[in-house]
Amino acid sequence: MKVVVVVGGVGGARFLLGVKAALGLPPVGEHDSPHEITALVNTGDDVWMHGLRVCPDLDTCMYTLGGGVDPERGWGHADETWTVKGELEAYGADPTWFGLGDKDIATHLVRSRMLRAGYPLSAVTEALCDRWRPGVRLLPMTDDRVETHVVVDDPDDTGRRKALHFQEWWVRYQAKLPAHTIVPVGAEEAEPAPGVLSAIEEADTVLFAPSNPVVSIGTVLAVPGMREALRKTEAEVVGLSPIIAGRPVRGMADACLSAIGVESTAEAVGRHYGSRKTSDDGLLDGWLVHEGESVDVPGIAVRAVPLLMSDVEATTRMVRAAFDLAGVRVD
Ligand code: GDP
Ligand code: CA
Repeated sequence: MKVVVVVGGVGGARFLLGVKAALGLPPVGEHDSPHEITALVNTGDDVWMHGLRVCPDLDTCMYTLGGGVDPERGWGHADETWTVKGELEAYGADPTWFGLGDKDIATHLVRSRMLRAGYPLSAVTEALCDRWRPGVRLLPMTDDRVETHVVVDDPDDTGRRKALHFQEWWVRYQAKLPAHTIVPVGAEEAEPAPGVLSAIEEADTVLFAPSNPVVSIGTVLAVPGMREALRKTEAEVVGLSPIIAGRPVRGMADACLSAIGVESTAEAVGRHYGSRKTSDDGLLDGWLVHEGESVDVPGIAVRAVPLLMSDVEATTRMVRAAFDLAGVRVD
């Protein structure tokens, strides 16, 4: 079976553990399998920090699936130390609000050096995965530079607006500055990374992880050709709601949704993705919402099941429900 999963960072990575388990694989690490899982990963959060290229969502997926993630935070390395961060602060080197751990920095050093030598991000990611062996093909959505920016009222200059890099808005300001718009800068000129469109075309099932609908899934969908490929594939496309009882399970996705004028409900997000069958630009055949919610999305098969990824077993049941809704059987 060929499964394609559109993902962001923490939510996406946890979901991928369940995809592996639902296909009979140990969730962590690489193992022989007739199944093929391809993750199309958001790169709109990527940023240059202290001369290093940081790819938060790719790294979260790589560390999580490779068994190296910090289990408490859900991102970064387990047993991380922060010596370099302290030294940078001692120099007053901005930005100080973004923490790069010492072990994590090694990843960014290898990546930045390869990028500067001319390798595309997809090749760099493959090289990094040689170490981590995530057991999932991690494809950046694009090799081109796309960075999500958030337009806010300038906190230092009343009456003016300012575009912040997504990381600054999210990490420094905790998404508390109301967003006027959220723009994936560079997306219009970007091309899907090698292998992305063919993975969608050849997939038996496509899943949208319960990742942030705006700055994770939405950014992947902003790359030209992505939506067309999803509409054309013979695979059923099934999404899982990151919104339960009108709120994101973790994080501040509601601040992103309100910026694009979408209510923070499973119904509104399902309608935002839209029906592949009955609308001209919709993307979903199926939509999973949390148990007990009654949700109507025209043209989409909706089913309510427990959607809390409290452990790998619970996540595996979510993936099985998605396969079931997609009408595929896993033996
Ligand atoms: P990020 O890039 O690290 O922000 O992670 P993602 O975009 O992949 O995932 C973030 C989203 O995952 C948030 O909007 C959460 O609401 C959602 N999420 C986190 N945990 C759960 C869970 O247990 N169940 C569901 N349904 N959604 C979750
Ligand atoms: Ca992210």
